[in-house]
Amino acid sequence: MLHPVELTRELIRQQSVLGSEHAIAKQIHNLISPYSSKVYLEDIGDGRENVIAFGKGKGRRTVLLNAHMDTVEVMNNWIHNPFGAEEEDGKIYGLGACDMKSGLAIFISLYSAFSQQDLNLIFTACADEEGDSLGAYTLIQYMREKNINPDVVLISEPTNERVMLGARGRVVFEIEVKGRSAHGARPHLGINAIMDAGKILGVFEKLPLPEHDKLGIGSFCPLKISGGSSSLSVPEECRIILDRHYVLGETQEGIRMDIVKAIEALGLRSSVRVEFVKRKVPFLKPYVCEENELVSMFREIASSDVTYGQSVGDFNLFGELWPTIVYGCKGGNWHSGEEFVEINSISHTYDTYSRFLSMLV
Ligand SMILES: [Zn+2]
Repeated sequence: MLHPVELTRELIRQQSVLGSEHAIAKQIHNLISPYSSKVYLEDIGDGRENVIAFGKGKGRRTVLLNAHMDTVEVMNNWIHNPFGAEEEDGKIYGLGACDMKSGLAIFISLYSAFSQQDLNLIFTACADEEGDSLGAYTLIQYMREKNINPDVVLISEPTNERVMLGARGRVVFEIEVKGRSAHGARPHLGINAIMDAGKILGVFEKLPLPEHDKLGIGSFCPLKISGGSSSLSVPEECRIILDRHYVLGETQEGIRMDIVKAIEALGLRSSVRVEFVKRKVPFLKPYVCEENELVSMFREIASSDVTYGQSVGDFNLFGELWPTIVYGCKGGNWHSGEEFVEINSISHTYDTYSRFLSMLV
């Protein structure tokens, strides 16, 4: 069996910043090949791949292990070497230590230990989780083609050893404001797109945000505003990029229409278009994993309360289709400098998963 703590160090040393996942995919492919009946590198474009592997055992239950291989970029505030996997005070420091090389290591170990047992065990590692989830999206298309329907999907994202059973969804809008130019000394002759965009920003706080009993309430965040004129002219164009997290019970089109109506009510002279930002992967929808036999079993073993995610991840794509449990290590500073994972927590998280799989064989 491959050791999860050792593997965590090894994987941190293998750089895999978003967009450069090829080397780690090959490394993982080599690590798990001896334990697999079949293993693939699934092309997702631009020389990037997912890893998909099928264990050698057969059983009543199908369990899919999923982790992502990519990390965010190196932020400025590192003291430790982000690729050094240095150990201090029971912690391993490194980029992705928590998010989620430790989770990846735990699943590689778990897979190596259980791949011969009476279980249909599938190991998957995705690229692009820190991007648009193109890896998970491509993997799920493959699963649907092959009619693979896991009884449970396990994802070892860091949750501080809490069981996460759902998350909010997310959609992003581009709001284009078109006015009319005129000489800047005679602004009344034009329509100032920036002034109108300012009024639009003011309506966001009044938009309805329905509440869900588990996922809580949606939120919005203007991410970017751009436009203007470089000469003394009334600016004729302005764009706002608006992030909106949302909960079950809302629809993406319904949210768009709320924004459109609120803007119409302002009676602006500019013409305004509210569109979804274009991307390859559809926006990730909110989900809640319903309690079933396997979920209760996992919760009991983990002896944890249930939590729900505020933001999106690959888990949204899986959670929409299959019972999905997210559970991972304790640590800190992910998506920042000085990211670390607690070494004890790697062993503890491994044990939780191992006890769970032992009950399924
Ligand atoms: Zn992550």
